[in-house]
Amino acid sequence: MTKQGPGFETLAVHAGQDPDPATGAVVPPLHLATTYAQEGVGRHKGYEYSRTGNPTRATLETTLATLEGAEHGVAFASGMAAEDAVLRSLSPGEHLVVGDDVYGGTWRLIARVLERYGIEHSAVDLRDRDALSDAWTSATRLVWIETPTNPLLRIVDIEGVCELAHRRGGRVVVDNTFATPYLQQPIRFGADVVVHSATKYLGGHSDVVGGAALTDDKEMAAHLRFIQNAAGAVPSPFDCYLVQRGLKTLAVRMDRQCASAMAVAEFLAAHPAVASVRYPGLSSDEGHALAARQMRAFGAMVSFTLEGGEQQALEVAARTGVFTLAESLGAVESLIEHPARMTHLSVAGSLLEVDPSLLRLSVGLETLDDLVADLSRALS
Ligand code: PLP
Repeated sequence: MTKQGPGFETLAVHAGQDPDPATGAVVPPLHLATTYAQEGVGRHKGYEYSRTGNPTRATLETTLATLEGAEHGVAFASGMAAEDAVLRSLSPGEHLVVGDDVYGGTWRLIARVLERYGIEHSAVDLRDRDALSDAWTSATRLVWIETPTNPLLRIVDIEGVCELAHRRGGRVVVDNTFATPYLQQPIRFGADVVVHSATKYLGGHSDVVGGAALTDDKEMAAHLRFIQNAAGAVPSPFDCYLVQRGLKTLAVRMDRQCASAMAVAEFLAAHPAVASVRYPGLSSDEGHALAARQMRAFGAMVSFTLEGGEQQALEVAARTGVFTLAESLGAVESLIEHPARMTHLSVAGSLLEVDPSLLRLSVGLETLDDLVADLSRALS
């Protein structure tokens, strides 16, 4: 991750956030106006109506694009709205290949919404380049990667998938929610579009739902801006402000959360009640070497299965105290969840169905000893 110019932390605090020229305020103002005075018809300062463009949103879009190393940033009301806008670049009769371990909501959008509009898909394990090649058809236009995947934390080789897809004329989208631009910058590996649920690490405090799509591709950027305005799933100025504020501490939060996640994964790997641990930071993990090449650190999500199967998984999830039993991830609070019955319920009965003995942890910022003691109590 060597780059010219200011470092990530400096950009997170300053990119697109010069002091307000009118007042000198060091925090970008919250622009609540829905409409903007025009000097004459069509003569204005760049803003007409806040669905189309809003200065607080524009500041966030600039910062996010800068952090991902992208030319263009487009913010949405949620991660799903950002995904929907990207996927609407496909036309009826076209086809996409999606990883076979993705967020359940992504799968639901592709399998249950897009399919109704004639957009077809295949789900494959994107670690297997031959499987991707076999799934490719003359109608394939897009590959959808999550890495690390949700909830199995598998690592997909972004550069390898991009090489294959680009050779065949397709675009590659990477959902970078789990890694964040601090740990991984997919555009540098050739990805055409990065999407985020800003609800997670970018916001970081469980108090805002948001999303974004970042790209260097001019045509895709124009499409995203068009959908942002035409369909209108825009974040409020206050939502943008909260994500902007979260970004300033992203790097320090991730450093601590990744370190704690590693310690939690090591604790679980040594525990007799635990059947398997999935964390790319463990040297025994199948994705470890690739993650070490592609990511700055290994993330703060840890998944594990229980020797006692689903029943034990449900009991452990109900017994933790410092880890709150809840959906979502990526914030300062540590969370535990049962993917098969919670975040991934929408993939039940599909190819993507999740092992019911699996639990997923989002490791937060609490004292490490308290986190480990909590799990130890719940597992005993
Ligand atoms: N992508 C991933 C990896 C997610 O985990 C989620 C939500 O959990 C989403 C996208 C969707 O984001 P949102 O909930 O902000 O719509």
